[in-house]
Amino acid sequence: MKIMEMKYEGKAKKIFSTDVDDCSVMYFKDDATAFDGKKKGTIEEKGVFNNKIASEIFKYLEAGGIKTHFIERLSDREMAVKELEIIMVEVIVRNVAAGSFSKRMGIEEGTALKQTIVELSYKSDPLGDPMINDDYVFALGLATPEELTFMKEETLKVNKLMSDFFDARGIFLVDFKLEFGRHKGEILLGDEFTPDGCRLWDKKTGEKLDKDRFRRDLGNIEESYRDVMNRVLE
Ligand code: UDP
Repeated sequence: MKIMEMKYEGKAKKIFSTDVDDCSVMYFKDDATAFDGKKKGTIEEKGVFNNKIASEIFKYLEAGGIKTHFIERLSDREMAVKELEIIMVEVIVRNVAAGSFSKRMGIEEGTALKQTIVELSYKSDPLGDPMINDDYVFALGLATPEELTFMKEETLKVNKLMSDFFDARGIFLVDFKLEFGRHKGEILLGDEFTPDGCRLWDKKTGEKLDKDRFRRDLGNIEESYRDVMNRVLE
């Protein structure tokens, strides 16, 4: 397979087209950003760790009945994926209070919720991914009601699968963000599932094992990503 041109460069990944039909290459960088790109840095070897973590998780989710864009891991930093038309809606799940939810609602991190929250954001870096609801999605034509229902149902299935997965590895899945795309009449899970886009707390120590270590300057960032990778590959 030959890599052709770069189609897109995001904060942590690049996407390249290839000479193979319906196959793109997702390249994982070491770059890290937070607070809508205001904080920038690099996490050494993050790209390698995240590619391994995401590949393993995509395989696990596929086995659990979730259709994803994953084809195969090609190298340390490259993953072959199907070509998606990305839906500009981010679907966020919260199992306990943390992050922007805690800030917005004035509720301490770690506080239990009476039920799981599914939250939507408009995928737009310049606007800082504003929170939206179903009516916004339909009014702006971002997705149809059928598509949004499917995305939410898939997201709750992913929450169950991933909560069990991490629980078995001594980790509590606090919250995460998913992205979906259209592909040949279906909707597939796209993007990645890595510590860049979820919150993971060690069940014994409560230690944060995700991008909050970078956002909040907690140190041991590389070590935490490596720890997550080792536990994911267990
Ligand atoms: N998240 C993400 N990308 C975003 C926004 C959120 O990956 O653009 C993830 C984030 O890592 C966390 C969850 O979604 O696991 C909820 O994030 P939150 O709304 O608390 O925002 P943050 O604290 O990242 O500003």
